[in-house]
Amino acid sequence: MKKILLTGIFGQDGSYLAEILTSLGHQVNGVARMPLRAHAARLCEHLGSKGVTPILHECDLNDDESVTALLRHLQPDECYHLAALHRSSEASRQGGEQSESAMYLPNVVSGLNVLEAAATASPHTRIVLAGSCHMYSGAVVSPQFEGLPFAPRSMYGLAKVAVADLARYYREERGLHASVAILYNHESPRRTDDFVTKKIVRGLDRMRRGESAPLELDNLHAVKDWGFARDYAEAMTLMGAQSAPRDLILATGKGRTVGEFVETAAGLAGISDWQERVRVRNPGMPARPPVRLVGDPAAAYGVLGWRHSVSFAELIAHMLECEAQGSLG
Ligand code: NDP
Repeated sequence: MKKILLTGIFGQDGSYLAEILTSLGHQVNGVARMPLRAHAARLCEHLGSKGVTPILHECDLNDDESVTALLRHLQPDECYHLAALHRSSEASRQGGEQSESAMYLPNVVSGLNVLEAAATASPHTRIVLAGSCHMYSGAVVSPQFEGLPFAPRSMYGLAKVAVADLARYYREERGLHASVAILYNHESPRRTDDFVTKKIVRGLDRMRRGESAPLELDNLHAVKDWGFARDYAEAMTLMGAQSAPRDLILATGKGRTVGEFVETAAGLAGISDWQERVRVRNPGMPARPPVRLVGDPAAAYGVLGWRHSVSFAELIAHMLECEAQGSLG
């Protein structure tokens, strides 16, 4: 049995990791932000209903002493640092706008605190940190691969790059087993409502139940590389189990537009007149289309022996089915 620490345990990925690691017989410890938001509280309850009852710890991830005390006390074999703020989670918590830099600095500080705490108080702990495709938003090649220089174009992406640079420092200079999972979009019934996939699935489910409200979307041309969150959680556990730490891209390698997502979902939901029922706020093609943010999963396939278990259509079908049942999957 391994002792595991998950930060952001009641987020989408944390909840799948908690399930997977519990099913493997490991002791799962978690840090969540208190008070739990409604969605996190639902996920906590959902895990409980499946017999997944992690040990929760009080810890302020933005306070170095608090993180060091936790790692010194717990001495986990592995730590998955998933906790991160993003615009929608923060806006709803704070009830207003906050500057981008103020919002994302805590993502850097918490990453640094986890790495430094492990280095000083629990150096055997293997750390997997959540990176993002937004580390490559300004890349000029597609698909992106691990050797490509990072090119963030947002404060969120910059914060993720800073954490990846810190992880490299702690790996190379301080001997930590630290890896970054460079995550492309991954979805599930556990997404919050502010993500486009959940909006689409929810909107189409309402139409399926006879509601007339249109589905409002920003643009149908945006391209995403969408996978299933549980598959990515599984890949992260394999990264933690590797003998040598290494940053890896977790992606499907296939870009799909938001329009393709809507069309596939509408087909599965049996809504043939979806084109008349979707309102698009910015229907034009972007003047200068960005490079497609699509990740090359070849290295992860080779190193981890990992594969996707769920296709694009299967992911959407699963989300639609759970939406109809009011289930978190
Ligand atoms: P979620 O937003 O679902 O989960 C993140 C969790 O972290 C939330 O429960 C949040 O709590 C919690 N959290 C934030 N700050 C803190 C803090 N200071 N202390 C404790 N908990 C905190 O995200 P995902 O599970 O989808 O993503 C996991 C990680 O992967 C994140 O780092 C994200 O940036 C990254 N990622 C995800 C992608 C995706 O497609 N899902 C793509 C690329 C990267 P609260 O509910 O209070 O906000």
